[in-house]
Formats: sequence, C-alpha cells, structure tokens
Amino acid sequence: MKNNFLKKVFSRKKETKNIFKPWNGLIEEYREWLPVSERTPIISLQEGQTPLILLHSINEIIGKNVKVYAKYDGLNPTGSFKDRGMTMAITKAKEEKCEAVICASTGNTSASAAAYAKRGGMRSFVLIPDGYVAQGKLAQALVYGAEILAIKGNFDKALEIVQEISKSYPITLVNSVNPYRIQGQKTAAFEVIDFLGKAPDYLCIPMGNAGNITAYWLGFKEYYQAKLCKKLPKMFGFQASGSAPLVFNKIVENPNTIATAIRIGNPVNRKKALQVKKESKGDFFDVSDQEILHAYKLLGAKEGIFCEPASAASVAGLLKVANEIPKNSTIVCVLTGNGLKDPDCAITNNDAKFESGLDPELRTIIKRLGFK
Ligand SMILES: *Cc1c(COP(=O)(O)O)cnc(C)c1O
Repeated sequence: MKNNFLKKVFSRKKETKNIFKPWNGLIEEYREWLPVSERTPIISLQEGQTPLILLHSINEIIGKNVKVYAKYDGLNPTGSFKDRGMTMAITKAKEEKCEAVICASTGNTSASAAAYAKRGGMRSFVLIPDGYVAQGKLAQALVYGAEILAIKGNFDKALEIVQEISKSYPITLVNSVNPYRIQGQKTAAFEVIDFLGKAPDYLCIPMGNAGNITAYWLGFKEYYQAKLCKKLPKMFGFQASGSAPLVFNKIVENPNTIATAIRIGNPVNRKKALQVKKESKGDFFDVSDQEILHAYKLLGAKEGIFCEPASAASVAGLLKVANEIPKNSTIVCVLTGNGLKDPDCAITNNDAKFESGLDPELRTIIKRLGFK
C-alpha cells in the first residue's frame, strides 16, 4: 500500500517535470527573431506566454460556428502588453549604456517603463495627463519609483514634450516611436500562431497610438514569410467613438472616452496603421463607451475575465461587426490590459448585487441568499 503510494508520487513528479517547461521571457524564447546578440544584457520579468482563452459566451452570441479567443495580455508582469515592448526597449537602452528613460503615458507605458527601467538600474521619467490616469497604473509607477510629472494637458501634448527632451538630452524615449517596442510586441503574434497552429482569420484589437496593431501585423508577416503559417489574418482595429482619429481620418483635438488607455487624438503610428489596414484587407471601426462597457461587463460576468475598458473595445468591436464575419471563422481578440488597473471603472460599472450593513447573523444571511 505504502509502496504503491510512493510509486504514484514519484511517477507524478516525473510527469510534472516533463510537462513544466521553463519560460525565460520573450527575448530568450524568440531570440532569433529579435535584434539581440550574445552580448546584449537582457532585462526581463519573464513577460509573454500569455493565455489564449476560448470565449464561450461570445461564440454563442455570434453563432455561425465561430471560434473566438481572447489573447489575455493583461497577464503580463505589470498587467499590460506594454511589457512585451518594454523588455526590448529597456534591454537595448541598457546595451547602449543609457542611464535614464522617458515616456509620455496614459498609464500602462509608464508602469511598464518604470518597472523595467528599475530592473535595469536606470532612472525613469514619466509625463502623464493630470487626472486621466487610472488609479492602478498610477500606483504602479509610484511603487516602481518613477519620477512622475503630471501635466495640465492630454497625452498628445505630453508626447510632444518628451520627444523634444529626448532629442536634446541623454535620455532614451520608450514610447512606441521607439522601434524596439514594436519588435518586442510582435512576439504576441508568434504566440498566437504557436498556440493555434495557424493564423486566425481575424485579429480584433483596440488602437490608441496604433503601435500594437503594427506590431501584430509585423509578427504575422514574419511567420508567414518563414512559412510558419499559410495565410494572414484580416486586421480589425477599434477605437472609442470620442477618440477615433484613425476611423474618421482626422486629428481629434479633445479626445474623450472611459477607455483612458486609448484616449489619444493624434496617433504617432497613423501611417503604419493605415498600411496594415490596406495590406491585410482589414478595417477600422469605432465603438461607443456604452458598447465598450457592455463588452467589459460581459467578459467579467460571463467569462471570468477582468480586463480594462480599453481592452474590451476589441470584443465590443467584434460584437458590432459580427454580421460581417463568415461562418467557421477563427477570431482572436486582444485584451491589452488587466482590469485591476482601473478599479474605479469596475466599481462604477457592474451589475453585481451588493448589500451592505447587514447584521452578522446566520438567519439574516441565509435569508439574503434566498434560502429558507
Ligand atoms: C497602450 C494600450 C492600448 C493601445 O495600444 P497602441 O499600441 O497605442 O495602439 C490599448 N489598450 C491598453 C490597455 C493599452 O495600455
């Protein structure tokens, strides 16, 4: 009896060892696809390898035998896809012996830049629009020891300023105009194909500065050229209606949306994004804050996935264009950031039942649960 038990334990241990493959961060894992050499000092928090989760309730709503997955990039080390680009940008900054980095941010870039800069032993300066950064993101930048300057202006203004500064001072700019960001972020497309064994038919993604849609497309194309997939997806990009310069093809002076991560009126990667749309035979659409919140709540309450409002724009967008999707399609919606980033939004926008001030009394509680 005892022997059998031990045998079982030992055989299981062996099994576990075989199943467990250590993941060393996306630069190590996709080294041959990235601009690094043997001597590059890699700054990593083991980002990447985020799950691709089948969305049963969305499949049901759309019907037509579609398969919709969420690429849940909110599970990266600082809670957003920005970590994919930041590990590359900070690694290259370190290689170039840079001592400080700077960025403008709606929140996630600053959180990620601060974390990776500190891990690399550098200072990090961040410019944010005063009052428009979600609480969780601000908390992160503070904890990671960023030097934060909140300006009375929006993201676009902040970006102008940091671009000027990085031209004249020895500080590396780590916004998505930094070409290494796109290199790191393209690995998300590799992971999608590595997981599915093929490219999806559609990729749905929220757009702010449109660095991420550019990066995904680059990743898909590189795998395609290397014959690691047989076709390319159509790229569907979504913006919030109050902040949709790429959809309406004009600069938005005062962008406004509950999805603060994509509250950007003048995207720096505008030309690249339009190129992606053309090359992939994709399309761009806007979604209202109401549609975003509907998807946000649906993901939480029906799928058990808590993403931030900007991320829900990808699912909101898919639901909006569902009529255009042919049957049997495989679709990946990118969930760019973690819901914990924006607790205020969660507390204000939910359909939960919440009763407070109850007596700590067994009968009361049972009654409230609806039992007798
Ligand atoms: C940065 C960000 C986006 C927008 O990405 P772009 O590359 O600027 O288009 C979307 N969602 C979240 C959560 C982000 O942090």
